[in-house]
Amino acid sequence: MSLAHGRPYLAIPGPSSMPDRVLAAMHRAAPNIYEGDIVDMTAGLLADLRRVALSTSHAAIYISNGHGAWEAAIANMFSRGDKALVLATGRFGIGWATHARAMGVEVEVIDFGLNTPADPARLEAALRADTGHSIKAVLVTHIDTATSILNDIPAMRAAMDAAGHPALLAVDCIASLGCNEFRMDDWGVDVMVSASQKGLMVPPGLGFVWVSDKAVAACRGSDLATPYWNWEKRIFADYYYEHFAGTAPTHHLFGLRESLTMILDEEGLPQVWARHKALAGAVWAAFDTWGLGGDLALNIADPAHRGHSVTAAKIGNGGAGRLRQWCETQAGVTLGIGLGMAEPGSPSYGDYLRVAHMGHVNAHMTLGVLAVMEAGMQALAIPHGPGGIAAAASVVAQACKSA
Ligand SMILES: *Cc1c(COP(=O)(O)O)cnc(C)c1O
Repeated sequence: MSLAHGRPYLAIPGPSSMPDRVLAAMHRAAPNIYEGDIVDMTAGLLADLRRVALSTSHAAIYISNGHGAWEAAIANMFSRGDKALVLATGRFGIGWATHARAMGVEVEVIDFGLNTPADPARLEAALRADTGHSIKAVLVTHIDTATSILNDIPAMRAAMDAAGHPALLAVDCIASLGCNEFRMDDWGVDVMVSASQKGLMVPPGLGFVWVSDKAVAACRGSDLATPYWNWEKRIFADYYYEHFAGTAPTHHLFGLRESLTMILDEEGLPQVWARHKALAGAVWAAFDTWGLGGDLALNIADPAHRGHSVTAAKIGNGGAGRLRQWCETQAGVTLGIGLGMAEPGSPSYGDYLRVAHMGHVNAHMTLGVLAVMEAGMQALAIPHGPGGIAAAASVVAQACKSA
């Protein structure tokens, strides 16, 4: 018998679950795009996009997914033949590097593998070795969604300053904005990219780029930026349509208005971060307990280096793949596949999964996912230590008591 009928839960790291309020805000007739509500609303949206990034500089909106936001940043930051230094800690860092290379940028990658964060000492050494200052920008993911590694962005800034190198610091916050603490100005970030469908709780379709004044000036005239991707007019628009190089993504903007109000003005950014931290802690506690009696392990040993929006884990002997299947068909919960941990079709591909706890999620959703996983492990006879759910519940109880 399947117990999957009921509201399904897509617990993969994007698209994340969306508040009904966001969807309801999108459910309306086409607005006038020349004057009225949407034009008035957009100035406030751009201001709130700066607030959510703790940035006083500029935000540009693209009709794209995260890959589009990657290319927007690349197109504006570099001219053909310029050099990028990419700090890779999983599939998404590698992906940003691949896009840059394909667009004509010379790319140097420092690959930190799949289990450890970017090392500021190696960044500093690479920048010191670049005596001619040919590296125009350093690219790094805040949370690499494939490995769930959290990179220490202030430490990267400090390494760049210690090396006395003028490169821009560009950060991919697609899986962290609205989940993990991120402070664009305080952390000295010059360019940041994100997208609508993860922590921001809006359907896929909007890509965002935040740009410091320094980066606007340093990138002016870069020859990869075609009229559509050029951030200049999107930021300094004389006419409304120039913010979008054409028709505005009308309904996504109404959805975004609702989600930013929920994040910034109702729950509040510090509480949003604290909620993600507590839910992540519950997931880790369950895995740690299960791992005492079976071949289960979190991908990142040190909690300080784990993102709070997604958890990558291993369940050996193909357990992860079998469990994902069980949770979806028997319980209505879809867990994330392992991404970039093993090649599809290889014997160990079924050993990896990811649990998302990103965006519009609360204690009952995350504890529900964990309880379903434990039921699945019992049903499939996957060996695991007892008490995982109790451990997760106690993290939740503790978090609520201390708040
Ligand atoms: C999801 C994600 C991307 C890609 O975004 P898409 O919307 O799927 O194109 C890039 N980087 C990170 C860190 C992500 O989590």
